[in-house]
Amino acid sequence: MISASKENKNFRIFPLLILLNLLLINISFSQNERGNYYSYSIDLTTVYDYKLDVTLIPPVITTDETIFHLPKMVPGTYHVYDFGRFLSNFRALDADGNELAVSMVDSSSWKISNASKLAKITYTVNDTWHPEDSYNFVFEPVGTNFEKDKSFVLNTPGLYGYFDDMKSYKFDINITKPQGFYGSTALIPVSSDETTDKYEVESYYMLADSPMLYTNPDTTIVEVGGTDVLISVYSPNKKVTSKFLASHLSEILEAVREYLGGTLPVNKYAFMLYFMPFGIYNGSGNAGALEHSNSSMYFYYELDSTQAMSYIESNAAHEFFHIITPLNIHSEEVAYFDFDNPKMSKHLWLYEGITEYSADIARVREGVITRKEFLKVLRNKMNIAENFSDTLPFTVMSKDVLTKYVDEYQNVYYKGALIGACLDLKLRSLSNGKYGVRDMMNDLAAKYGKDKPFKDDELFDVITELTYPEIRTFFADYVEGNKPLPLKEYLALAGVEYAKQKRTKDISFGTLSVNVDDVTNRVVVENLDNADEFGQDMGYEEGDVINKIYGTKVTAHNFGLIVQAVMNQVKAGDILQVEVLREGKPILLMKEFYKVDVDKHNYVGFKKKPDAQQQMVRESWLASD
Ligand SMILES: [Zn+2]
Repeated sequence: MISASKENKNFRIFPLLILLNLLLINISFSQNERGNYYSYSIDLTTVYDYKLDVTLIPPVITTDETIFHLPKMVPGTYHVYDFGRFLSNFRALDADGNELAVSMVDSSSWKISNASKLAKITYTVNDTWHPEDSYNFVFEPVGTNFEKDKSFVLNTPGLYGYFDDMKSYKFDINITKPQGFYGSTALIPVSSDETTDKYEVESYYMLADSPMLYTNPDTTIVEVGGTDVLISVYSPNKKVTSKFLASHLSEILEAVREYLGGTLPVNKYAFMLYFMPFGIYNGSGNAGALEHSNSSMYFYYELDSTQAMSYIESNAAHEFFHIITPLNIHSEEVAYFDFDNPKMSKHLWLYEGITEYSADIARVREGVITRKEFLKVLRNKMNIAENFSDTLPFTVMSKDVLTKYVDEYQNVYYKGALIGACLDLKLRSLSNGKYGVRDMMNDLAAKYGKDKPFKDDELFDVITELTYPEIRTFFADYVEGNKPLPLKEYLALAGVEYAKQKRTKDISFGTLSVNVDDVTNRVVVENLDNADEFGQDMGYEEGDVINKIYGTKVTAHNFGLIVQAVMNQVKAGDILQVEVLREGKPILLMKEFYKVDVDKHNYVGFKKKPDAQQQMVRESWLASD
């Protein structure tokens, strides 16, 4: 059931004012023992060339030598970024301002001599969105962006460091901000006025888990089932607003809440979304998000709201489901995260695969997407998974994802999610529809939790004990082993037909061959040699510039996205409208969609007449309860 209307008691929009008032209430923390905490200061008004100066008053150090680190990696990224390489002008000073000797241990670690005299550290940080060289570019939702007078994406691991054995000390974070700026974060400041915010954080783990977005505020707060949700947006051309996103994200969170059985696992949550205008920035070339315990940070290009929404919805559901795993169900490798020398768990199928699958299955069960759309999502994952190894065991890939298998990581979102689908179908079939992946996750959350990690080597046996002996074979064959997923056999459990290759009839955009004009960045019809019947019928000519689709201007950037969005929404009988420029003149081409012969790779479709057992599994799998 979906309820995102304003009448529903679970969905209310509060004015920003209430939030601001809440934030001004001083939360009293227990007093730090003098000197046993870090005090960091940054001033956003003094940014220059994407650089910020950082000052640290360190905790008292009693050893002769100490090592100061910035993280090499942060949880949730599965990639070594080495954040220390963005630091320069590193200075360690005693109480009189004399420099202490410093030597670099590696690119993210500084050894300080006479450390017992250390009274202050200063350094300069270049943001990661505008690096001096683009080697090992940091994925934007993980990195930092210091844009003078505009916005500051402060993923804390790119700014602040820690000393060995002192990661559990408290941190004071003092931020001076431009007039009118608002700091969005899941943290609550202990004090805040027009130009400064002060935060107190329990440990480095919590600091690294608490990103911030500072900008002129466009924020909306909604309440979903008792959880206060802050939506904070930076969209310089105002193409996306927090108010618009709030209604969609509330619907997603409602679906997640229903799927989870009525309550969300957090009291408060912050979505921080940065929308980059087209054509002014290259960056990593990717868009997406990173999860945290009470927030998530997003980076997208600034499309208009409707086009962006399908991606944002599925990403937001994905990031939110991370609250369950790895944030609350995880192995020791994740629990005692080593920022300097990270060790990988072998269970990425769980952390990322099940998370991605949960985002999809929750949306179809609660009616955010249709069953047909859900099958399209699965099919899309099958198609993309073929770009990766299908015989490399997921546990092996996971364990060595930082080194040997960097290029296989992305498959966690594709094959990883399909592992989730197959496991769900198997569980529902074995239990006559009474137990699925969601129940398995609930059982694991009850058994473990944030402060009780599992042992990496024991997880498969634990799940088997909670479920069925057959599930151990499933893991042995398809997650630890090198057998390809038995998609045909498992989808058949729910009366879903699968074929690696199938000639079928469907509507089509026309299978045009197109090119991109490098100068204008427009999409040009190259030829009609491979166009299907509908593509021939539309009346395109070689050299036509695809100018508009349903009135929306088309560029190389949004062409694929628009076509995909159109094909997700139309049915046979609807009229396709494409405006082309032919020798500079606009010509409107229109044609009713009709079904043509298409060769479908990884065909998936519902059997019209499933047997009783298949029908039962299908409803248990896809229907809301
Ligand atoms: Zn994820």
